[in-house]
Amino acid sequence: MTETAHASRSKTRRKWIYQPDLSQQMAPFYHWPPQAAKTLRYILASWGPFSVRIYLLGLAVFTWFYFSPALERCREFAFDWIAQIWLRNFLLMLVIAGGLHLYFYTFRKQGDDSRYDPRDMMRNSKQFTFNDQVKDNMFWTLTSAVGFWTAYESIMMWAYANGYAPMMEFSDNPAWFIFLLFIIPWWAGLHFYCQHRLLHSRLLYKHVHAWHHRNSNTGPWSGPAMHPVEHSIWLTDVFLFLFVASHPIHAIFILQFHTLAAATSHTGYEDLNLGSRARFRLGDFFHQLHHRYCDCNYGTFETPWDQWLDTYHDGTAHGDEWMKNRRRQLYQSKAGA
Ligand SMILES: [Zn+2]
Ligand SMILES: [Zn+2]
Repeated sequence: MTETAHASRSKTRRKWIYQPDLSQQMAPFYHWPPQAAKTLRYILASWGPFSVRIYLLGLAVFTWFYFSPALERCREFAFDWIAQIWLRNFLLMLVIAGGLHLYFYTFRKQGDDSRYDPRDMMRNSKQFTFNDQVKDNMFWTLTSAVGFWTAYESIMMWAYANGYAPMMEFSDNPAWFIFLLFIIPWWAGLHFYCQHRLLHSRLLYKHVHAWHHRNSNTGPWSGPAMHPVEHSIWLTDVFLFLFVASHPIHAIFILQFHTLAAATSHTGYEDLNLGSRARFRLGDFFHQLHHRYCDCNYGTFETPWDQWLDTYHDGTAHGDEWMKNRRRQLYQSKAGA
């Protein structure tokens, strides 16, 4: 094939296999005047049975009751209880990210139904460890991501056990206990936006965050695959509970929300198809656009900052045009600096 023919075929290749209407997915929390009915519908759907959130909350409760060391054992750092937390986290990640990868990419159980990006995971590419995107992503997820997740959870368990983190039981204040659980995804989104903007500063991007952006197309293992320095920043919002009264379930939930939901949201598919009508929401097209274009959509679909600060790509042709202009401006400002 001639170069010209190849270029024209590349140009006409479909950008997305499946492309949801992003404007319908943005949380209506910040609309003015407030839209109470729409907001309520959004909250119910985001915590409903066809979304990841409620299962992660259930998993956090289950983890605390059946797969966590007793707090009395955590008064001093010791190999046995930390290893117990590490093994549980390792297995959770292996089962969830590994299960999704096998289902969608190895056995192709859903074909291209609701898949975003037509490109395959990269092989024979020197930018990845082991020259292979999936192996690279698995390695950094199962070593560094699980490592920092375990370390931060262990620090919080030690802090609760020694009274350094203000601990509360459900019976102390049930309303606060539940409110805190339900506010965690919003808090995690706010923290994600702030640290993500920081990671896009010139030096941090070049030496740290570029690792995550090697994945311009993503799979389940890509979500938690980052540079260790990024892992160390990514999960720091759990330390809010050193200052705010909480229970270990809150700390476990926020850490699992970041790590395990990163695997589901980077799956590269909008939904898990559960039959002809039911679809379980997994993907995050808002963030998929960030992986494709890099200079937009730094937050989440529950935070308004991208829309307010004019960094929002809505996934449409108009968004593509806006992106081109933004890139031109960024290039010119860098060239002039
Ligand atoms: Zn990402
Ligand atoms: Zn980024």
